[in-house]
Amino acid sequence: MLVIDALALAQALIRRPSVTPKDAGALDVLEAVLKELGFVTHRLPYGEVDNLYARLGDGAPHFCFAGHTDVVPVGDGWNADPFAAEVRDGMLYGRGAADMKSAIAAFVAAAARIGTPTGSISLLITGDEEGAAINGTVKLLEWLKGRGEKIDHCIVGEPTSVGKAGDTLKIGRRGSINFQVTVTGTQGHVGYPQKAKNPIPVLAELVTQFAAHKLDKGSEHFDPSTLSFTSLDVGNTATNVIPGEARAAFNIRFNDKHTPESLLHWVEDRAQRIAQGSGCRIEITSQTSGVSFLTAPGKFTQLISDTVASVTGQAPFFSTSGGTSDARFIKSFCPVVELGLAGATMHKADECVPVAEITALTDIYTALLTAYFAKPPL
Ligand SMILES: [Zn+2]
Repeated sequence: MLVIDALALAQALIRRPSVTPKDAGALDVLEAVLKELGFVTHRLPYGEVDNLYARLGDGAPHFCFAGHTDVVPVGDGWNADPFAAEVRDGMLYGRGAADMKSAIAAFVAAAARIGTPTGSISLLITGDEEGAAINGTVKLLEWLKGRGEKIDHCIVGEPTSVGKAGDTLKIGRRGSINFQVTVTGTQGHVGYPQKAKNPIPVLAELVTQFAAHKLDKGSEHFDPSTLSFTSLDVGNTATNVIPGEARAAFNIRFNDKHTPESLLHWVEDRAQRIAQGSGCRIEITSQTSGVSFLTAPGKFTQLISDTVASVTGQAPFFSTSGGTSDARFIKSFCPVVELGLAGATMHKADECVPVAEITALTDIYTALLTAYFAKPPL
């Protein structure tokens, strides 16, 4: 049986500076190891993004691990070399250490310990998670569907834990929509305001009303939805001119009480009521970057919860908080949850993870695969 050292593999992956959409050889490293383990691998480049799908076995049940080898840009303020994957005082440093090259390494090491599964194990790895997420998981899932491959259950290895690996299980995520508001009035001289239509008070009214609005009180598994303004912008440098235009932007993170359609309708309706009688025009544009999803607690989540508890001594907390992930695409294909390392340093300078946590996560994934194939939650 081939033994995979999760730390060494995580280091090899971090040493490939795969800042989205570059792959920089990260998938080559992964593919080579998976081939050695007997996985059948497919490289699936779409646009400028490279992706990897690898499967061991062809029977059911089919357990899939989804993740990404791309990382966010380095940014400033590092004390460590972001791509040296140095271990210092028991910590592995590097961009991608937490998000999420170490989790991929842990999963591969776990799969190696399992050997031949009574079913199938696959990895669905994209190079496009931190970017537009267009040429990654979505395309891979379509490709799988076209081949008639069915995934029964999926774990996304995002760094969703809080303090220790496995302390949190994400069973859902909120959806996210970005909005841009443009209020158009009539430009004019401040000395003759009656001849102008000032868009600023209208926009201020909209910001006040929207910011104070409670979208809901939360639902069984979700916190209340939130609306946050991210910009308020007039850009007027003159002191004697009433501007013709004022702009704002906001984001809504929404739970399972809303759909993008219901929110778009609410925003548009409320804005037009504010515009009424003001002499100004309000235009709204929006981009939906994800809908909310929930994998309702059941056999699959119970199996994970029991298994994690048997390894760490504590059952994970079920959470639906935080940003979006590729699980929002996978949820249409099979039950999906997220379980990985603690994410305290992800996207930050000196991103790092304790080496002991990589070992702990490898143990958790190993126990999960063992329990899954012993008694599939079908
Ligand atoms: Zn990530």
